[in-house]
Amino acid sequence: MAQLKPGVVTGKDYLTLVAAAKAGGYALPAVNVSSSSTTNAVLEAAAKNQGDVIIQLSNGGAQFYAGQGMKDSFKAKVLGAVSAALHVHLLAEHYGVCVVLHTDHANKALIPWVDALLDEGEKYFKQHGKPLFSSHMLDLSEDSMEFNLNECARILTRMAPLDMSLEIELGVTGGEEDGIGKEMDESADNSHLYTQPEDVLQAYERLNPIGHFSVAASFGNVHGVYKPGNVQLRPEILKNSQALIEQKRGTAPKPLNLVFHGGSGSEKEKITEAVSYGVFKMNIDTDLQFAYSEAIGKFVSENPKAFLYQVDPETDKPYKKFYDPRKYLRLAEQNMVARLNEAFVDLGSKGKSLAL
Ligand SMILES: [Zn+2]
Repeated sequence: MAQLKPGVVTGKDYLTLVAAAKAGGYALPAVNVSSSSTTNAVLEAAAKNQGDVIIQLSNGGAQFYAGQGMKDSFKAKVLGAVSAALHVHLLAEHYGVCVVLHTDHANKALIPWVDALLDEGEKYFKQHGKPLFSSHMLDLSEDSMEFNLNECARILTRMAPLDMSLEIELGVTGGEEDGIGKEMDESADNSHLYTQPEDVLQAYERLNPIGHFSVAASFGNVHGVYKPGNVQLRPEILKNSQALIEQKRGTAPKPLNLVFHGGSGSEKEKITEAVSYGVFKMNIDTDLQFAYSEAIGKFVSENPKAFLYQVDPETDKPYKKFYDPRKYLRLAEQNMVARLNEAFVDLGSKGKSLAL
C-alpha cells in the first residue's frame, strides 16, 4: 500500500489517495466546516478513525470563517477560505492523517470567488511550491452544458499548473445549500436530478486532456434531510457512466472519480452501492450540523439557569463553568466526532489512512 506524509495532500499525493480509495472500495468523508471548532472536530475524528478526510468550505462557510461582520462579503469569502486552509496546513500533520482541502459548490455567480481563490493559490504556490487547496468545485449544472464545460475547461487550465484538481457537477443535486440550488419541490418533475451518462462522456472527453477532475453526478441525491419523498436514489447511473467511458474510450474500469453530494440521511446500502461504482468522496454536512447543535441544545436545556444568570439568584452558585463557551462547544465537537465515526464506518474508510 502506498504511504504518504501526514498533512494536507495535493497534486500527485492527492491522486494516490483517490486511486487508493477507488481500488480499496472505500470513500472519504468530505465535511463542510465554518469555524476552527468544526475544523478541529473533523481532524479529531479522522485521527481517531485512522482515516483520511476531506475538509471543505462553501462560500458561506468561508465567509463565516472570516467573520460575518466583515464589511466586504466577497473579500470575506476569499480570506475566510484562505484562513481555514492555513489553519489546516498548520495542524493537519500533527493529527497524523492525510487531509484534502477543497471548496464546495460555486455556481455562475461565484465563478469570481474561484478565480480569486486561484489568485491566492498562485501566490501560495510561488512561495511554497505546492497549492493552497487540493481542489475546488465548480457547479454550473444549472447552466447549459456548453457553458458548464467551457468554464470548467478554463478553470482547469488555470489549476493544472498548480497541481490542483477540479470537481464539476453534471445534473442537479436536489435541495438547497448555502443559497445554491432550490428547496425541494416534491411535486416537480425530477428528471433533471439524474445525470445522463452521455453528458459524463462529453465532459470526460473535454476535460481529461487538460487535467485531473472529478464528477459530482446526480443520481437522485439531495442536499439536506427531507421526509422520504418521490426522489429515488439510482446509483446505477454512476455504474452506467463508468461503463460508457470504459467502452467508448477503452480505458481501465472505473475511469471516473465520482463524488456523492447530499450524503446526509442516505440509506446505507445505497452508499455502499455508490462507493462500489467509483465514488471516492461523499459530502456530509446536514447530519453533522445537527449533531453539533444537538449537543448544545441538550446542554442548555439541562442547565437553563446557567444561560440566564452568571450567579444563581437563589443559591448564589456561580455558573461560569457552564456558560464558558468552551464547555458547550466541546460537547458539540464531541457529538460531531461521534456522528463522523459512523461516516468513516459507512464509507469503509476507517483504518485506511495512507499516512505513515
Ligand atoms: Zn453539494
